[in-house]
Amino acid sequence: MALSSTNTLLVLGGGLIGLSIAHSLAKKGYAVEVLSRRRNEAAGFVAAGMLAPHAEGLTGHLLTIGQESLKQIPKWVQTIESDSGIKCGLRNTGIIVPFLSVEDRNKYPTCALGELLNRCDLEKEIPGISSQWKTGLLFEQDGQIDNRRRLMRALEKACVELGVGFQEGIEVLEILHEKNVFCGVLIKTAEGKLQKINCPKAVLCSGAWSQNLLTELPIFPIKGQMFSIQGPKDALKRILFGPGIYLVPRDDGLIIVGATSERNAGFTEGLTPNGQLKLQKGLNSLLPITKSWPHMERWWGFRPCTPDEAPILGSSSIKGLWIASGHYRNGVLLAAITANLLTKTICKESLTKLEHDLLVAFEWKRFSNFQ
Ligand SMILES: Cc1cc2nc3c(=O)[nH]c(=O)nc-3n(C[C@H](O)[C@H](O)[C@H](O)COP(=O)(O)OP(=O)(O)OC[C@H]3O[C@@H](n4cnc5c(N)ncnc54)[C@H](O)[C@@H]3O)c2cc1C
Repeated sequence: MALSSTNTLLVLGGGLIGLSIAHSLAKKGYAVEVLSRRRNEAAGFVAAGMLAPHAEGLTGHLLTIGQESLKQIPKWVQTIESDSGIKCGLRNTGIIVPFLSVEDRNKYPTCALGELLNRCDLEKEIPGISSQWKTGLLFEQDGQIDNRRRLMRALEKACVELGVGFQEGIEVLEILHEKNVFCGVLIKTAEGKLQKINCPKAVLCSGAWSQNLLTELPIFPIKGQMFSIQGPKDALKRILFGPGIYLVPRDDGLIIVGATSERNAGFTEGLTPNGQLKLQKGLNSLLPITKSWPHMERWWGFRPCTPDEAPILGSSSIKGLWIASGHYRNGVLLAAITANLLTKTICKESLTKLEHDLLVAFEWKRFSNFQ
């Protein structure tokens, strides 16, 4: 199969980042073809949807790119909603980070960017919060989006409306290039047939699996397990982000409880009793009143992590192949700016100084000694 026009591009991986880039490039007139192995394995369907550069305590360039993406999200979501006709559940709920002591709070990397809460304020904000939490920080700037039930579906629909092609059940086996110039991919079809697709351009967005396609990428999986409970509507008005455990309330009272962080699990699929117990204990220690609220769903997925826990964005060692991967815990937050930066680079649009600096900060070459 040959897709030869210079305005034709393959997106390798149909997860959150791949869909965001496909949508953005299709709006610029690109003929985009998304090759995706398994829709349901995408971390985009797993994440809690927090938009939390401040509550996560990010620092340096990662904080800057997170804050910049947070600014771009309302307009980005509006475009997706109008292209798809689906509301994405973007909410400015703010996020509260509770602490056991004032010393812990003052040491938090983003302490200066939050509002200080004493025990009394904490109780007012989060009725029923366990008595061990003495103080907190409120980050009004941070929020959430309903990625699992809405954003992913909206992005898929927006892409289809803009004429993006989807090939589901396709595994990309190999990236093909001649003298370091990208020329296509070798795929395995859903029926198990090997086939070449010739194309002049592609973006690698294969999440935690990206290293299988480009060995120079030091991207590895960090498994996360989650569950959800159904609380009374508005019982929890803000996100509660404790150490190792967080609660994200959706507008209908559903609360996402996350997440384990399993560095040694590799790509081992499935829930584990230990992981689920850890989440339940964390939940009890944060908000004991939730004990009587019914459990709804349980799931897991793989965060695409890099050695410095920051994404890899921009060109690769192969001309015509770009990378947008390794977003680790912040892919939902960073989807808007990732789509923007990659689109501008691929379309050769002029960049602001900040955009240029961010592309330099997150280029793959920072790991060029990795093998
Ligand atoms: C438990 C958990 C909680 C999280 N919570 C948050 C949060 O609150 N806020 C936040 O900002 N981020 C969060 N994240 C992170 C976020 O989900 C990820 O960073 C983001 O989804 C990564 O998007 P992606 O498109 O790179 O990867 P994915 O969404 O995983 O998509 C990758 C896609 O590539 C496909 N693929 C892989 N290899 C191939 C191949 N060879 N051929 C064809 N297709 C292939 C896969 O099938 C998959 O569909 C969380 C992640 C997890 C796991």
